Amino acid sequence: MLQEVKITKDMFTANSAKAQLTDSSKKSLVDQQYRIIGNHSAVKTCGWTKNMIRGKGGCYKLKFYGIMSSQCMQMTTSISCANRCTFCWRDYKAPVSTEWKWAVDEPDMIYEESVKAHHKLLAGFGGSPTKNDFIFKSSKKIRHVALSLTGEPIMYPKINGLIGRFNKECISTFLVTRAQYPEAIRDLNPVTQLYISLDAPNPELFKEIDVPLFKDYWERFNQGLEYLAKKKQRTTVRLTLIKGMNMSQFEEYAKMIAKGSPDFIEAKAYMHVGASQKRLSIESMPMHEEVVAFTQELAAHLPGYEIVSEHIPSRVVMLAKKKFRIGGVWHTWIDFPKYTELVNSGKEFTAMDYMKKTPPSLVGLSGKKTPMNGIKQDKMGMSGEEQLGMLAKLNGTDGNGQNKGNGQIPNGKHITVDERTKEMEFWGQKK
Ligand code: SF4
Repeated sequence: MLQEVKITKDMFTANSAKAQLTDSSKKSLVDQQYRIIGNHSAVKTCGWTKNMIRGKGGCYKLKFYGIMSSQCMQMTTSISCANRCTFCWRDYKAPVSTEWKWAVDEPDMIYEESVKAHHKLLAGFGGSPTKNDFIFKSSKKIRHVALSLTGEPIMYPKINGLIGRFNKECISTFLVTRAQYPEAIRDLNPVTQLYISLDAPNPELFKEIDVPLFKDYWERFNQGLEYLAKKKQRTTVRLTLIKGMNMSQFEEYAKMIAKGSPDFIEAKAYMHVGASQKRLSIESMPMHEEVVAFTQELAAHLPGYEIVSEHIPSRVVMLAKKKFRIGGVWHTWIDFPKYTELVNSGKEFTAMDYMKKTPPSLVGLSGKKTPMNGIKQDKMGMSGEEQLGMLAKLNGTDGNGQNKGNGQIPNGKHITVDERTKEMEFWGQKK
C-alpha cells in the first residue's frame, strides 16, 4: 500500500510562501552558476549547450534523437528530491522531502523567468571570439527543455501547466523522474520523451544506491514503471552504471525493463563529479568499453530491443525497441514540428506518429574506447590531449569538431580516441 503524498490547499496561497532553499544553499547554487527561479525552480546552462555554441558538437541526445544542444534549456521545477542518490553530484545539504511543503509558483512565471535566466547565462557568448556566430544566433530560440537538472521535477504540483506552456511555445519536453511519485507519472500529460532512472534492479541495491526517503520506495518505483508502460508517447529507461556496484544482475534488469516497456534504454556511465566524489571513487566510473560490454550482455536478455548507437564522450549506449527499425532503417530521431502539431491538436497520438529517420552515419558501435582526456597515459606515453592533437592532424575534423578517419596512427597502433569532445570539461573538472 503506497503512502499518500499530501498536497494541501495551503500550498497554492501566497501566504504559505516557503522557498525550498535557505539563503545559504541558494548562494551556494548561484556560485555554481545555477539561477534560482521563484520558490522551487532552477536553471543552469548545460555544458553541451555551450560546447555546441562554440561549434564543437552536441550531446548524446543530438546523436540519438536529434536534440539541438545549442537550443536546449536545462532546468528543474523542484530542487528538492525524495532520494539521496550516492552517485548524484548534489551534496547532502540539498533539500529532500517526501511531500511538497512549499508555495507553488505559477507555470507562466516559471517559464518566463527561466527563459530570461537561460539567455542571460549565455549572454557572455555575444562578445566571445570562440563562438560560432550562426549557432549562437540560433540559440536565441529555445526549442528543447530538459527537465532533469537536479531534484525531482515531476513533484511540482502544476507540472502539467508548465508542459502545456512549453507545447504552445513549440518547445519539446524531456522529463526525467526517479519514479517515487507514481501518481504524478500516471497523471502527467504527454511529454516528448519521458524518462525513468533505473539505478538498481532489486530493493536492496536500490536502497544502497538511491538512498530513498520513502519506506515504500520499491512499491512506488514498480508502480511508476507500470504507469510508464501505459504511456503512448516516447519513453526511456536510463541506467546509471557504477562499476563494482550495479553492473551485473542482467536478468533482474531485464525484468524491470520489461515492466516499464520503454521505447528506448540508455545505459550510461556514472560520472565522477560534484559531491559524488566524496562518496565514490574515480574507479567507479566505467570506461566506455565497459558500458558497451554491459549493454551487449543486457541486450541478450531483451529480445525486443537492439543496440542502436553510442556516444563515447558521455560513455552511453542506446537501445531501441525493434519497431523503430522500419524497412531496415532506424527511426529514433524526433520530428519536432510534427510533435508540436500533434500535442497541440488535442487528438490522441503515439510515439510512432512523430519519429524520424536516424542519420545512418550515427548508427552503430564503433569499437573505440574511452578517450584518455589526461586522466591516464596510454602505453605510448601520450596523454589524451596529445593523442587528440595527433588525430586532428592526421584526420582533420568535420564542422562539428568531430574527428573523422579511422583512428590509426602511422605505426599502426590503434589509439583510443573518438570524438574531440573532452567530457570532463563539461562538468567543470579538468583532471
Ligand atoms: S540538457 Fe541534456 S538534452 Fe540539453 S544539451 Fe544538455 S545533455 Fe543535451
